[in-house]
Amino acid sequence: MTPAELEAFIKELGEPAFRARQIFSWVQNGCTDFSEMTNLSKTLREKLRDTCYIAVAEIEKRLSSNLDETVKYLYRLHDGELIESVLMKYHHGYTVCASTQVGCRMGCKFCASGLFGLRRNLTASEILAQITAAQKGNGIRVSNVVLMGMGEPLDNFDNTVRFLELVSNENGLNIGLRHISVSTSGLVPRILELSTLHFPVTLSVSLHNPFSDERSKIMPVNNKYDVSELLAACREYIKNTGRRISFEYALIDHVNDSMRHADELARLLKGMLCHVNLIPANPVVENDFKRSDVGRVSRFQERLLKHGINTTVRRTLGADINASCGQLRREQKNSIV
Ligand code: SAH
Ligand code: SF4
Repeated sequence: MTPAELEAFIKELGEPAFRARQIFSWVQNGCTDFSEMTNLSKTLREKLRDTCYIAVAEIEKRLSSNLDETVKYLYRLHDGELIESVLMKYHHGYTVCASTQVGCRMGCKFCASGLFGLRRNLTASEILAQITAAQKGNGIRVSNVVLMGMGEPLDNFDNTVRFLELVSNENGLNIGLRHISVSTSGLVPRILELSTLHFPVTLSVSLHNPFSDERSKIMPVNNKYDVSELLAACREYIKNTGRRISFEYALIDHVNDSMRHADELARLLKGMLCHVNLIPANPVVENDFKRSDVGRVSRFQERLLKHGINTTVRRTLGADINASCGQLRREQKNSIV
């Protein structure tokens, strides 16, 4: 519930409005048990216990990296579904990579999250619970969130928007929207809808190939919204929000990492307020894609830079703990099946 919804609900119970703020703050800061809300009366706590629930992400598995401070979580939800999150430490603070759906229905060929299709959307509080659980479990404060875990955030639009409103609320986690990235495989109408909300979030667009016919082969969503439509929506997004777009480009060996690809990518992005993030693709057992080697990655980057395109290579964190989304759940499911 948003603070306004909670206030209306609390008033219905005949309680003063400030109780709503207290409850909001408890929940947003990771309290999952009404009996622990010690600044509320016992009667109210019991009333809440009988009529409400708090979303919980229960730790099913926790893997911490020996190479860096990355921690990967497999969480179990109230209905037994499993989702993944990653906690990463950067020089500017802690970032959580959160899931927005159980599974995904976009079917990108290189991704482990979509292997079992979409099971269901996450509620806003289930997205939030991934952050509060990571904070609580490690005694830290998360400063950044990337919606780059399992699922397509814009395919779960309303809950994603509600999550953004909750997580940035000053009585809650108070994580500024500028510190949040929303990643999409390119749902054009939803990109446009998001742009009308004027949230100062960073939009990350998973491009992975500048040629539409080739992109369709690895990302079926491209059959619906092709590269030119997608880039037109990106331009509109930039115009409406004034925000720079981040293009994600996973380099797959001899699939999308040639100079021909780099040149076309640069041609398409020329003059756009954007940044390209190169990610050496994470191998997934179910497909035979390989990650581009270091030489091919740096040649690709240099070529883009030569064309004047802002480009960085994403650092690999948690390489020893399968920290690529969808892989942990996939393993767990395989061992259950
Ligand atoms: N559904 C959204 C957000 C979740 S996926 C999206 O697709 O953007 C987060 C990022 O991980 C996307 O850029 C996606 O393309 C990328 N990704 C998925 N599988 C990958 C893999 N095996 N190696 C590297 N990046 C991958
Ligand atoms: Fe879904 Fe993103 Fe994976 Fe594609 S890359 S299947 S959109 S989670």
